[in-house]
Amino acid sequence: MNRKFILISTLLLGLVVSSCKHANQRDGNSGAATYTVAGNESAVDKQTMNTSAQIIAKPEVPVLCYHRIEEGKKGDYTVSPATFTAHMKILADSGYHSISPAQLYDYLVYNKALPEKPMLITFDDSRVEHAMIAAPVMEKYGFRGVFFIMTITYNKKNYMTTDQIAGLAKAGHTVGLHSWDHTMVTKYKEAADWQKEVAEPKKKLEKIVGKAVEYWAYPNGVYDHKGAGELSKYFKISFTLISKRDSIQPLQTVRRMIVPECTPQGLLKSMHRTFGK
Ligand SMILES: [Zn+2]
Repeated sequence: MNRKFILISTLLLGLVVSSCKHANQRDGNSGAATYTVAGNESAVDKQTMNTSAQIIAKPEVPVLCYHRIEEGKKGDYTVSPATFTAHMKILADSGYHSISPAQLYDYLVYNKALPEKPMLITFDDSRVEHAMIAAPVMEKYGFRGVFFIMTITYNKKNYMTTDQIAGLAKAGHTVGLHSWDHTMVTKYKEAADWQKEVAEPKKKLEKIVGKAVEYWAYPNGVYDHKGAGELSKYFKISFTLISKRDSIQPLQTVRRMIVPECTPQGLLKSMHRTFGK
C-alpha cells in the first residue's frame, strides 16, 4: 500500500465520518425525525434541528381557523363580520401577537424566540371576504394572517381574484395552498393525483404571489401518515384541524382550532381549552 493510497483513504474516511455527523445532527438522536425541510436550507444548515419528539414536547402555539365571514349564515364555518372584528379586538386587547408560519417553523425546529402571547390566524377556501373584510380588519389591529387557497377558485364568484391573492402577500400576509379542488389528501393514490392537487397548483400560486408557497392546509383537515410524509417534500408546515399530531411528522400535522360564531370571551376560553394558552 503506497502512501498516496493511505492519504486518499484517510481523506475519504474523514468525509464519510463528517457527513454522518451532519446527518445525525439533522435527524436528532432518536432517529425518528425524518421530516424534510422544503425550500432554502443553506442559511440554517449548520443549526441543530429539533427531533420530532422535541417538537411535540414544545408548548403549542394557538392557531385559529376561519372559513366564511358573512351575515346571516349559521354554523361552525361562518362568523359575522361584526363577530370577526370583535374577535380581532379582544385578541389585540389581550396582548396577543399574530406570528407567521415561518416564525412558527423557526420556533418549532430551531427554538427561536416568539413574541409574547403568539398565535396564528388562518383562513381556508379562498373566499372573497378574506381579502375584503378579514385582511383590512387584521391590519387595523397590527395582525397578519395566513390564507390557504384552493386554486380551482381563482377569479370565480365569491372567491378571491388572483390580484387579491397577490395583494395579500404584498401586504405581509402569508399565502398557502389548500389543494386544487379540495380533494382530501387520503384520496391521492397516484403520482398524477399529487401533481394535480399539490405540485402544479403550488407552482401556479407561487407565480401569482411571487414567492415560495411553503405551507399547506389539509382539505377537511383530514390526513394520514403516508400523506403527511409526502407533503413534507413540498411544505415546511402542514396544518390539520383538531386531530392528533403524527409522532413522526409533527410539522406536517400542526393543529388548528375552527372558530365558530361565538363571543370574544368564548373565543379566548376555547383557545385556553384547546391549546392551554
Ligand atoms: Zn377547506
